[in-house]
Amino acid sequence: MNYKFTNFENFLKEEYNTDSKILELVYNAENELQSKFKQADEIKQINQCKVLQAMQDARLNASHFDWSSGYGYDDPGRAKVEEIYSRVFHTEASLVRPNIVNGTHAISITLLGLLRPGDEFIEASGTPYDTLKTVIGTNSKSEQNSNFGGTLHEYGVKYKEVPLNKNCGLDLDAIKNSVKKSTRLVAFQRSTGYGYRPAISLDEIEAACEIIHNINPEIIVMVDNCYGEFVNTYEPSDIGVDIMAGSLIKNPGGGIALSGGYITGKRDLVEQISYRLTCPGIGAECGLTYGQNRHVLQGLFLAPSVVNSALKSAMLTGFIFDKLGLEVCPAPFSERSDIIQAIKFQNPDAVVSFCQSIQAASPVDSYVSPNPWDMPGYDNQVVMASGAFVSGSSIELSADAPLREPYIAYFQGGLTYEHGRFALIMALQDLSKKGIINLD
Ligand SMILES: *Cc1c(COP(=O)(O)O)cnc(C)c1O
Repeated sequence: MNYKFTNFENFLKEEYNTDSKILELVYNAENELQSKFKQADEIKQINQCKVLQAMQDARLNASHFDWSSGYGYDDPGRAKVEEIYSRVFHTEASLVRPNIVNGTHAISITLLGLLRPGDEFIEASGTPYDTLKTVIGTNSKSEQNSNFGGTLHEYGVKYKEVPLNKNCGLDLDAIKNSVKKSTRLVAFQRSTGYGYRPAISLDEIEAACEIIHNINPEIIVMVDNCYGEFVNTYEPSDIGVDIMAGSLIKNPGGGIALSGGYITGKRDLVEQISYRLTCPGIGAECGLTYGQNRHVLQGLFLAPSVVNSALKSAMLTGFIFDKLGLEVCPAPFSERSDIIQAIKFQNPDAVVSFCQSIQAASPVDSYVSPNPWDMPGYDNQVVMASGAFVSGSSIELSADAPLREPYIAYFQGGLTYEHGRFALIMALQDLSKKGIINLD
């Protein structure tokens, strides 16, 4: 056994019997992607400083890692975490809590906190993420049982969707035509979710904001920012968006936050949402942080670097599957606005195999094989590879696919580029052994 490897290629060949053709594919891809990688590194550097400055300007100190008990009144760390988020995102106020259970919860309390019976709410980036359809009350399960769970539909909120245009971008004319002076809230989902489209660019969101606020500056523009944080040097909140929300087990948690979600934006909106997070009258004043402040902040500090690793892993994966003749989204070299790489496998066995390879290359639960299952809130069965330190964390290397045509796998995350790259090599190796891809 040779422990003195200095060359990764030799290591892979000896330890994993990796085909040179796969390595050639990877090295060529990295050469071609060099300018994109460099651009991502510039963004990482700027975001690293932005996060650092926020912590310095907020005078973060070790006492902020302490926490209280019971009601959680005057938790110094909780207030500091929220101040730092507001500084990073250039907003007036934030809610950053470990008891926001996931991204859906963050978005859901945003909508339920801001909308009242009779209000009109428009999703202006087409059909939203599966679990949000359930919150709105428009997916097949809640339509059968629309008086269930207190959906927006059940509360009498009027709902409209503006589909994306032919190029899968925002249809600005259609948005202009459907937004009325009386519209209360217009929402955009930046990332693809389980759609097959590139993420909505910040330029598009900026243009849409201007159109909407020209109709009526009181209309609340909201962005589901899941998977978008730190992909660019600025955020939706920097370009006219009033409120945005996301998950701490995605980008901004940096792989360290154990749980949680954030909401950030205008102070009066954040306050209204806080009454839905806890209850009317109590709002943001209560809520224990369970010792998570350190994790949340250390994660935020690492997030620019982790997002960079995830982005590069996504670029590499997209480039290589495109080269192998599969359809991918976003296309290689395109500008990115989230960390997702979708690959259209057109075949249920291929999509399951790909997810299983990613799981097998994970640090946790590598010896178990994921199978499709009925996830709560989703319409179809989903196969999910997530061998993560934090259960379900998708800023860690993960791949998932709803079992429906055309069998698209969504690949995301990677705490280190080296891990993303290695997992991809293993997946290519498995797919080629099974005859699903052809390396010649
Ligand atoms: C992940 C995600 C959500 C929220 O999902 P959770 O699993 O509830 O955190 C919402 N919208 C988009 C676009 C997402 O990617």
